Formats: sequence, C-alpha cells, structure tokens
Amino acid sequence: MTIQDVICARRDGRAHTREELVFLARGAAEGTIPDYQLSAWLMAAFLNPLGEEETAWLTSALADSGERIDLTGLPKPWVDKHSTGGVGDKTTLVLLPLLAACGLTVVKMSGRGLGITGGTIDKLESIPGFRVDLSPAELKAQASKIGLAITGQTPDLAPADKVLYALRDATGTVASIPLIVSSILSKKLAGGAEVVVLDVKAGSGAFMKSLEEARVLAGALTRTAELVGLKVKVALTDMDEPLGTMVGNALEVREALSVLSAGRDTRFRRLCVEFAALALEASGVVPDRGAGRAMAGEALASGRALAKAREWFAAQGATLGEDGTVPGLPVAPVVLEAVYHGHKAWVTRIDAQAVGEAVVALGGGRVKKTDVVDPAVGIELCVQVGDAINEGLPLFRVHAATPEAGEIARERVRDAIDTVPHLVPARSLFL
Ligand code: URA
Repeated sequence: MTIQDVICARRDGRAHTREELVFLARGAAEGTIPDYQLSAWLMAAFLNPLGEEETAWLTSALADSGERIDLTGLPKPWVDKHSTGGVGDKTTLVLLPLLAACGLTVVKMSGRGLGITGGTIDKLESIPGFRVDLSPAELKAQASKIGLAITGQTPDLAPADKVLYALRDATGTVASIPLIVSSILSKKLAGGAEVVVLDVKAGSGAFMKSLEEARVLAGALTRTAELVGLKVKVALTDMDEPLGTMVGNALEVREALSVLSAGRDTRFRRLCVEFAALALEASGVVPDRGAGRAMAGEALASGRALAKAREWFAAQGATLGEDGTVPGLPVAPVVLEAVYHGHKAWVTRIDAQAVGEAVVALGGGRVKKTDVVDPAVGIELCVQVGDAINEGLPLFRVHAATPEAGEIARERVRDAIDTVPHLVPARSLFL
C-alpha cells in the first residue's frame, strides 16, 4: 500500500479499508508520511466525508497510534467528559472532583484554548504550581490513589491526532464531522475511558452555531462511540449566552471553586449537576437521572467534592485552601465596572461570541497557537439573560492589564448586552 493509493481512494470517494486508515495514522504519528500528503488526504476527506464505519476505524487507528492507558485494577466505572467548547465553560474543574467524590475513576486529557473558546489546561495553568504534564504512568498512579487525574495533550496519547489536528487547523479542514468525531473520541479511547459524557454546545459562542449542526455532530458522536465500544451520553446545551458569570482563566477557576464550596443555585451549577447525573446514570451507579442529581447534589453540599478537589490540587502540585480559595491566584491590576443607565429593563441577550472576543483582546485567549495568555484578565458578568436591571446597577466588570485595554473591552461588552422594557425568560440551558 502507498500513501498515494490512500489519497486517491479518498479523492475518488472509494471506501477505505481499516488497514488503509491504520497505515495513515501510523504514518502521521511516526512522521513517515510527509505533511503535504497528509494535507492532501485531509482535504480529500473534507470534500468526500468518511462513512460511519470508516470514522470508527479512523478513531481506533488514531487511538492506537500511541499509548493507550490501561486502567485495569482501578475502581470501575472509568469515566471521561468532553465539551465541544464555549465561552466561560469551566465545567471540567467542577465535574472531575465531583465525579471522583461519587466514586467514579476519571482520567482526562485536555487542551489549550484557541480563539474564543477557552481551554481547561489554560485555566489550570493559572493556578500556581498546578502540573499539567503528567505521563501516562503518573496519570494512572494518581487516579488509583485519589480517583482522578488530568493532563495536557502528551506526545504519548493519540499522537496521530495531534499531527492531523495541527494540519487541519492550517488547511481549512477542521469543520468536517467525521474528522471532528474521530479526533475527539480517539483521545477518550487513548485515555482508557469506558463511559463518556459529551456536552455538545450550540450558539454564537460555540463551534456549532446552530442547533441543527449541533444535533448532527451529537448523532455522529453517539454512533461512532457505539461502534468503537464506548458508552456515551450526549446532551445539547446553550452557548448563545456565556456559561456562568466569569470568562477568563483565573476568574473561571474562582467561579468553579465557588460551585464546589457554596450551595448557591446557579445556571452553571445546574449544568455541572446535570452532567454528573448523566455520568452516574450511564455508569450504572444510580438507577436514573434523578438519583444521579441527588447524589451529585449531596457530594457538593456535604463538602466531599471540595475535599476531593483539595486532594486533586495537592496531587498535581498546587494548594487549595480550607476555605476553597487558591493562594496566589492571579488578579488583574485594573477593574472597570460598567453600570446600567436607563429605566427598569430585562436582559434579553448577552452575546457569547462578543464576550469571548473581548476576553481574547484583553489577552486572556489566543489568536495563534503560540500566543501567551494573561491568566488574570477577563469579564465578570453581573447579570444573566432574564435578569431585571435598574439605573445605576452594575452590568459587568472588566478585569484588565491596563486602563486602555479595559476601556476597549468595556465598550465591546456593553454592545454585546441587549435589554428590553418587559419581562423575558432565562435561556434554557439544555436544548
Ligand atoms: N476538538 C477536538 O479534539 N478535535 C476536533 O477536531 C475538534 C474539537
């Protein structure tokens, strides 16, 4: 078999064999197929999308291009979660200790942010001392001790995906459903998961802008997961409005920790509890979703999830205080408040994309992969869609490195918020 044969098969829309996809993934991981040929195949695969069986074979081939963590010996079920990404999405920081506190084993590989969607690794790197470079052996050892471990993308796990994803980014071939599905699920297989909960987001701040696109992705993820032997539960969630009140790395860590330490019912907390319930139900730990919600709620209210987070931070080199705060978490030097002026009104829109763009412009996100992020900056929303607002009340605060950058962000975010003079409902979280 030659790589030219594989490229021509895709170009002409002929179905691949499993062997061809194994050959491709191995060649990508080992560097024996040059970038120009991988890029030609990617464009052919973008124009002639892979079928379901081919997508499943590619998923397994990408997972097998490196090490697969074997969690044998650790308490079952072995669970992972994934979100297609959004503005203010810090769910992993809550869900991991919450699930581990409920007795599940969670080993996760996460990425950095690019564009308006933040990355979990950037959020964790804002925490002084937090290590995000655990080897597969360290991940397993830590998970066997405390039930959870997280790392950034390592060269050992699904290395072919790393190569192909970088080329997709550079060749306009990211937005192909079979390529997205195989990329996401290969990393779940490589991480050793049996059960995966997936948050597929739709809206202005998400990869999938419409509910219809998100539905197609969710369906493809579900079918491929079944074919590769993963048990998967998918929920479609709203990303027209940012998730929670904080957007920006250290700010999001603070919000996640506040969910672990306090019982206040918020939209973001409800999302965390719902995904925990989904994972507990899919794992067979509870008979139904309601029992899962109750178990997750108890783990939060009793402080067990916070205690688990403390063990997690310590295991990965960081400190989480008894009061749920992190010593030395970065704080921006400038905080500017935006105040509402006008008659009583209701918030009808907070455009997630515009808020995400403002945070990137403040330095809190990346335009290019090589950009360095400022962990301290971001936007703190004081209102959510459906809230009433009166003259003189704060709408949001900008956390910035300089007054000039803060002023620009204040204007951008002000334009992202619309109000109307009548009652409007809060946005549904689950679609
Ligand atoms: N996330 C991934 O891991 N891969 C994709 O292709 C898209 C999103």
